[in-house]
Amino acid sequence: MHGIDEETWLAFLDGEAAPGVEGHLRWCVECAETVEQLRALRGTLLAEARRLRDAAGISEARMEQMLDACLEQLACDREWTPQQATYLLRSLLEPFCGAGAAKTITELTIRKSASQGFDPAGWRLFVGNLSRNVESICGIATGRLIARAGFSLSVGSA
Ligand SMILES: [Zn+2]
Repeated sequence: MHGIDEETWLAFLDGEAAPGVEGHLRWCVECAETVEQLRALRGTLLAEARRLRDAAGISEARMEQMLDACLEQLACDREWTPQQATYLLRSLLEPFCGAGAAKTITELTIRKSASQGFDPAGWRLFVGNLSRNVESICGIATGRLIARAGFSLSVGSA
């Protein structure tokens, strides 16, 4: 975005030092708004995922309601780059398996499924693979959450 590559943006969002990004955000309103939106959404998704994680023993119907509420947060009317969407999916995953594992699973899946880049078909393939990998580590419910969330995000090719 605006001459800064996606990996640098992602590193910045993960809290790593990125002087180029910080300098850019001082004058670029568009990017500053995107970063603000991503951070706010990440906070919401973390909270929703924690609620889902801690909801053991509630009824299936109530769980579905909570899941829908969670996914509604993702249905805002903008398109994300695949890297931004990945960042958001990771926020959902963290409460279930920890930040380190969430990052590792996501990166391994990207390497395996997105070697051709992330066109919309590539994104669907990635989400499917991520969901299966998550399922084998964190269980069926979490895998399903990731699949539903991934497919409800609007992703454009970066
Ligand atoms: Zn910008």
